[in-house]
Amino acid sequence: MAAEKKHFVCVVCPIGCEIDVVYDGSEIISMEGNKCEKSEEFVRQELIGPMRILTTTVRIQGSRLPVIPVRTDKSVPKRLFPRMMKQLRRIKLQAPVNMLDVVARDVLHTGANIIATRTMLRE
Ligand code: SF4
Repeated sequence: MAAEKKHFVCVVCPIGCEIDVVYDGSEIISMEGNKCEKSEEFVRQELIGPMRILTTTVRIQGSRLPVIPVRTDKSVPKRLFPRMMKQLRRIKLQAPVNMLDVVARDVLHTGANIIATRTMLRE
């Protein structure tokens, strides 16, 4: 495979270095723009399969608002986001729900749980 240039914004820390990488399909030939070595693992993961925390909302009944914010409790493959969102659209919680309550376990067998990121009382 011919080497190709790729551009990433490192999300490991708030500095957000812009990184230019030359990648030949199996190895990183060069990497520029990163201020530290922590970005190397991030870039390698981005090249083979990006991982992210999924943040979204799910429906809730019996509370002041119709939806509650949730997120995965660890990074999951970004390519699974559409399937996860489809699964989460089927959930309807009942208030009260406490912050960090698990609202769905082991989503799509990733080992990640979906947790509430705020408390919503019954009203
Ligand atoms: S390369 Fe290092 S300094 Fe730059 S954003 Fe990533 S972790 Fe932060």
